[in-house]
Amino acid sequence: MSALAEAPTGTISAAGRVDRLRPLLEAAGVDALLVTELANVRYLCGFTGSAGMLLVHGDAAVLLTDGRYRTQAGEQLAAAGVAGIELSVGNAAAQRQGLLGALEHAATTRLGLEADHVTWAAARRFGELTGSAEVLPTSGLVEGLRQVKDDQELARMAYAASVADAALAEVRPMLDEQRTEHEVALALDTAMRRLGAEDRAFETIVASGPNAAKPHARPTLRQIRAGDPVVVDFGATYDGYRSDMTRTFFVGGPPTGVMARVRDAVAGAQAAGVAAVRAGVTGGDVDHVCRQAIAAAGFADAFEHGTGHGVGLDIHEAPAVAPGATAILRAGAVVTVEPGVYLAGVGGVRVEDTVVVTEDGCRPLTLFPKDRVL
Ligand code: ZN
Ligand code: ZN
Repeated sequence: MSALAEAPTGTISAAGRVDRLRPLLEAAGVDALLVTELANVRYLCGFTGSAGMLLVHGDAAVLLTDGRYRTQAGEQLAAAGVAGIELSVGNAAAQRQGLLGALEHAATTRLGLEADHVTWAAARRFGELTGSAEVLPTSGLVEGLRQVKDDQELARMAYAASVADAALAEVRPMLDEQRTEHEVALALDTAMRRLGAEDRAFETIVASGPNAAKPHARPTLRQIRAGDPVVVDFGATYDGYRSDMTRTFFVGGPPTGVMARVRDAVAGAQAAGVAAVRAGVTGGDVDHVCRQAIAAAGFADAFEHGTGHGVGLDIHEAPAVAPGATAILRAGAVVTVEPGVYLAGVGGVRVEDTVVVTEDGCRPLTLFPKDRVL
């Protein structure tokens, strides 16, 4: 197995990101945006605390957080190169005052909230405390910016993927040792941490035998045995950025009968899907290619989830790669391609890669070989 890539070091520069957000506010019908989704806050200013909100308006921005993060927030804003963002630290009442003061100072009349992330109760609360400013819903403004990754982000995602590749190479022999799904999942999680991941990207899936027919099975105490398909779906997180990969192994030798046909159908569909990814196509186009290939093999009804999703600071983010998804894939977007076929009571096969969209195709980040798997 190839050696681990070198870990990216230093802090991601968030300089310029707030400036790229500003022109989107007017189109959304607001003159300021209160960013409360923490991954969006992190993206815009580098702050990684568990509580904080970023108010962005035409010519200024202020990060509001509480006293636990006084030192950290100042350090992170400076390290991210966003010194222009003002910091306001205090308890809940002080933050309300800070928010109100900033809104009045900028003469804000239409304050946008992130409707996809704000509860009904929070929206009402903001409506009451923002005085004369009207509170309006917005959707996907920061998420739109996040779709196209810069080189700093891509380096972290490539590293996360290489950690996952190396962890799987280490753990693969366990599938032949009559271990339980749970033991294999734990070994993968441990290996990723030891190899440099700060965390797993999501709850690791190791699904064997009939469990492989459940696309989002949780690892059980079932012992893995010869003849099983084993779906392994997992990823690593490094500096906030995630990877996502699925491989399906056949324990004790290649599959026969219907599972051999399932394997061929999924392998073919996944390769066709990856080949269809390029800047300018929609997520729906890529999904259609995979779905057609699986339908042609006679398994249309056994592929019941979307083909993929964007990946980045979140494990599922824009753009979607699903039936009818109209968002255009842009160069620098990172998406998964992960068709699967699941036969209840029998087993299932899924293959997934995380790829970077380029002008003329895509570049896979997840490199664990597939020929030795299927
Ligand atoms: Zn996955
Ligand atoms: Zn995925």
